[in-house]
Amino acid sequence: MRVPLLDLVAQHEQIQDHVIPAIMQAVARQSFIMGPEVGQLEQQIAELSGVKHAIACASGTDALLLSLKVLDLAPGDEVITPAFTFFATAGAIHNAGGTPVFVDIERSSFNVCPAAIEAAITPRTRAIVAVHLFGQMAAMEQILPLADRHGLAVIEDAAQAIGAARRLDGTWHRAGSLGTTGTFSFFPSKNLGGWGDGGMVATSDDALAERLRRLRLHGGGREYHHDEVGYNSRLDTVQAAVLLAKLPFLAEWSAARRQVAGRYTEALSQHPEICPPLVDADNEHIFHQYTLRVPRRDALQAHLRDATIGHKVYYPMGLHLQPCFQHLGYARGQLPVTEEATAEVISLPVYPELSAEQQQAVIDAVTGFYG
Ligand SMILES: *Cc1c(COP(=O)(O)O)cnc(C)c1O
Repeated sequence: MRVPLLDLVAQHEQIQDHVIPAIMQAVARQSFIMGPEVGQLEQQIAELSGVKHAIACASGTDALLLSLKVLDLAPGDEVITPAFTFFATAGAIHNAGGTPVFVDIERSSFNVCPAAIEAAITPRTRAIVAVHLFGQMAAMEQILPLADRHGLAVIEDAAQAIGAARRLDGTWHRAGSLGTTGTFSFFPSKNLGGWGDGGMVATSDDALAERLRRLRLHGGGREYHHDEVGYNSRLDTVQAAVLLAKLPFLAEWSAARRQVAGRYTEALSQHPEICPPLVDADNEHIFHQYTLRVPRRDALQAHLRDATIGHKVYYPMGLHLQPCFQHLGYARGQLPVTEEATAEVISLPVYPELSAEQQQAVIDAVTGFYG
C-alpha cells in the first residue's frame, strides 16, 4: 500500500467547501494586501496562543527575522540556538546581524538542552531562540529563568508547534506565549498550512507589537512616513482567508495526529531496536513529525522506499556543520547529541487523513524490517 509522507490532496478534498468560498470572497473584494481577513486571523491566532498581539507576516522565516530585528543586534552579538533544527532558525539570526551560537539538544525530546544554553552564555549573548521541534515544546521552565537572570530575550520558534502546550508550575501555556515573542509558520506542510508562504509573530508586549507592525510595512507608522527601515513582509489577504477557513479544524487535526502517534508507539515500542518519540507528561504534543531513532537507518530507508512508505530524515546535518557556518569554527564531534540524532532519526507519515490500513502498513513495514 502506498502511503505518502504527507497528503495535502486528501486534506483538501475534506475542506475545499470551506476554503474555496472563503477565497472567492476575498477575490470578489480585490483587496489583496492587508484585507480584513489578515486582522481576523491575527486576532484568532492571538486567542489560540494566549497572547495579546499576533502580527502576520510573509513567512515563518520572516517572523523570526522580525523578532530578531527588534533586538537591534550589533556585530558580534550572540544568539544561542540548537544545532538540530530547520535552517531558517539560524539563517534568521545571521540575517538580523547576529552570530548564531549552536548548542546541543536533549536526547529524549530532540529539543534544546537548557544546561547547554547556560554553558554557552557570554557577555555578548543577547537572546535565545528556543525551537519547539516536531510539535513538542522545549523546557521553557528552565530556559525562561536563565534568560531572566542574564537579561536575554527569548524567541520561541514555534513553526512546528502551533497550538501545542506545556505545563509550567501546574499551569498549561501555549507555544508562543512564554517568550518575548513566539513565531509561527504557515508553510503548506505545517500543521496549519496555507496555499503558499505565511507566518506570524506572537507577543504580549504592546510596544514590541507596534514596532513589529511597523517593521513589516517598510518601517512606516503613517503612510509615506518612515521611522526606521523595515521590510515588505505581509501575509496576503488570500492566504489569511485560507488559514481562517482551516483554523477551526486545527484542534481535531492535532488530536488525530496524537492518535496516530499513539498507535505507532504502542506497536513500535515492542521492538528493542526502535526508539519511538518520548512525550513529556508536561507537554501537549501536536506531532508535526513522528520521529524515531533507529539503528541501520539507511537500510530502513531503502526498505521503506521499496514498500512505498513515505519517510524523511529531519534533519540530516547539524547546523553547526553547515558549509555556510564554517567560519564560526565548529568541529565534528562538538555537539554529540545533535550528531547522533542526525545519524539515527527518521520521520514517518503522521497526518490526520491516514486510514487505519495505511497506519498498519507503516507499522508493518518498519517492524518487518527489524524482524
Ligand atoms: C518551517 C520552519 C521555519 C520557517 O518557516 P517558513 O514559513 O518556511 O519560512 C522556521 N523554523 C522551523 C523550526 C521550521 O520548521
